[in-house]
Amino acid sequence: MRLSRYFLPVLKENPAEAQIVSHRLMLRAGMIKQAASGIYSWLPLGYRVLRNIERIVHEEQQRAGHIPMLMPTLQSADLWRESGRYDDYGEEMLRVTDRHGRDMLYGPTNEELITDIFRSHVGSYRDLPLTLYHIQWKFRDEVRPRFGVMRGREFYMKDGYNFDLTEADAKHAYNRHLVSYLRTYERMGLQAIPMKAEGGPIGGDYTHEFLVLAETGESGVFYDSEITDLRFGHREIDYDDAPACQAVLEEFTSRYARTDDTHDEAVFNERVPEARRRQARGIEVGQIFYFGTKYSEPMGATVADKDGNRVPVHMGSHGIGVSRLTGAIIEASHDDKGIIWPEGVTPFHCGIVNLKQGDTKADAACEALYASVAALGLEALYDDTEERAGAKFATQDLIGLPWRITVGPRGLKNGVVELTSRRTGESEEMPPAAAIERIAQVYGKAASI
Ligand code: ATP
Ligand code: MG
Repeated sequence: MRLSRYFLPVLKENPAEAQIVSHRLMLRAGMIKQAASGIYSWLPLGYRVLRNIERIVHEEQQRAGHIPMLMPTLQSADLWRESGRYDDYGEEMLRVTDRHGRDMLYGPTNEELITDIFRSHVGSYRDLPLTLYHIQWKFRDEVRPRFGVMRGREFYMKDGYNFDLTEADAKHAYNRHLVSYLRTYERMGLQAIPMKAEGGPIGGDYTHEFLVLAETGESGVFYDSEITDLRFGHREIDYDDAPACQAVLEEFTSRYARTDDTHDEAVFNERVPEARRRQARGIEVGQIFYFGTKYSEPMGATVADKDGNRVPVHMGSHGIGVSRLTGAIIEASHDDKGIIWPEGVTPFHCGIVNLKQGDTKADAACEALYASVAALGLEALYDDTEERAGAKFATQDLIGLPWRITVGPRGLKNGVVELTSRRTGESEEMPPAAAIERIAQVYGKAASI
């Protein structure tokens, strides 16, 4: 993408309404614009990041064997009356009436819809196990929408639902989700710690929340510091191997880690040596639940078991805050100049800065680099504007692309460009081909020049 043809409305001033750094940087970097309280338009740069996060979530869900689909945002109130949640959900639910006077709602979550789909089409234990998921906009009329996309009213969420014949199978589905979530967050450059949590309106007390540690997090957390050393990393896992998934759950949840809803000071003090006790704040980026037959029983989602008896299925649901993650990643990865995108989610793989736009040689070198990056199957944001060098650098630092190639007439005389890492700030001079080679390496692409 050439910056001269792009839409990147960066702000020079700090927006007064933003209380936390991710909100401030998302506004300044031209990623989002508020449309109404807690409702945002995703401008092109923000949209790219959102799509990248979504792609990683899709890939990891499907790796775990979960099946993508799409349910609507607007739902009929009838199903929610069946489950009993139409009245229970309270003020957070946005209720609307259509022209025929029918009660509708903007879905805050989808347990009822999916259960209805299930009971209409699945009748035998042979069709199980089954896990369906979608990524769709949700609406919760939060009392205090704040912190930009972190606590919106409209937000983008992955929600998945497993259907199993037995409790043991459903616990395996739970463990599979835990493993796939660990992989998902790590690919986004995040450490998200599974913590024992409370069910809330979704229900069930067999549940973990995934928290990213950050001072600006809304949840209080208590944990054993040893837990921060755990990484899932690049290990291979067979998602059908129940004991292997169970072992990962045990590894990642055996140490004390709880949100303030479930924290128990006595247990904390007894189980964790004083030197390892930590109290901090965290951002909830996901939650997994096993809730047995809470929805299947009242809604008649049953299957015939091996003996031909109708039994209610065991279910769980599993959510990832896709839009909130955009903010959470920035909270975890920024400095005083701006965002520092992890390679996994960056909106462009690298920036190209032309220090002297209009200089024949500099322009030609930039064009060649731009084409080489594209030939790798990667995308560069080429700053081909007439701005001063200082302003170009400031924009690059603000929007946080992990790598920048700087091209100027002086370097070109010696046959070199400069490659800069946004994270370390270190720059190195090298021939253009070497810079491309390095970019290719970072993103796991074979250099094709
Ligand atoms: P919270 O406790 O933060 O209100 P929740 O526990 O009610 O969230 P879940 O039903 O578990 O939310 O939803 C799954 C995920 O969706 C959460 O882990 C969170 O990342 C995200 N999420 C929930 N509410 C919001 C919101 N208002 N804005 C943005 N993301 C949200
Ligand atoms: Mg939650």
